[in-house]
Amino acid sequence: MSDLDHLLDLQANDTTADQLRHRRETLPERARLVELDERHRALEQETAEPRAERDRLAREQKRLEDEVATVEEKAASVDRQLYGGGVTSPKEAQALQADLESLKRRQSQLEDMVLEVMEQLEPVEAALAESDAALGQVATERAQVEAALADAEQAVEAELAQVTAARAELAAQVPTELLAEYERLRPQMGGIAVARLSGPTCQGCHLTLAAAEVDEIRRRPADALVHCPDCGRLLVR
Ligand SMILES: [Zn+2]
Repeated sequence: MSDLDHLLDLQANDTTADQLRHRRETLPERARLVELDERHRALEQETAEPRAERDRLAREQKRLEDEVATVEEKAASVDRQLYGGGVTSPKEAQALQADLESLKRRQSQLEDMVLEVMEQLEPVEAALAESDAALGQVATERAQVEAALADAEQAVEAELAQVTAARAELAAQVPTELLAEYERLRPQMGGIAVARLSGPTCQGCHLTLAAAEVDEIRRRPADALVHCPDCGRLLVR
């Protein structure tokens, strides 16, 4: 095998490694994760307002219920005074009775207000429950996709490790200067630095060389380094 044949083997190995790295970067699970994160953000954004409304109504309900409890306590206290046997004058009893009735009315008003707030809360809670369920679905799928991504990455990494391990041996077969030329050209040539000249066609750029150019190349010594006049890649004759 000539030095250039060895270089072609190295090129094939490097191309496989490039393809594997590209596959690793473009695994479909990665795009799906981006979509899911966008969906999560959108749902969070949608629920910000109903959440604030729910919290406001819940605070209102708590405030009203606390007030009901206070009024209830006061009423119980007046009730004890009234029927505890300590009241002797009918006037005092009448005043306490009036107090008690007023407190009962207030309690009933407050309880109606609690019910109103609870009615307002109901549809907000229902909408939030739906959003929470959707967020839960997103989280579940995200975990599945992350696991699938990890598996796919691991598979590519394993292949890449094999290809990378083989590279050192392949590179050792190529003379230092030729290897340096190859490494210099590769980044400029989209990863393909050496190509076969197949008939009059460069397999790197797929352009057909002029007959005179092909003749000129054929006349060069077998070990001479020849570049494609069109793309500049190293040619293997
Ligand atoms: Zn070419």
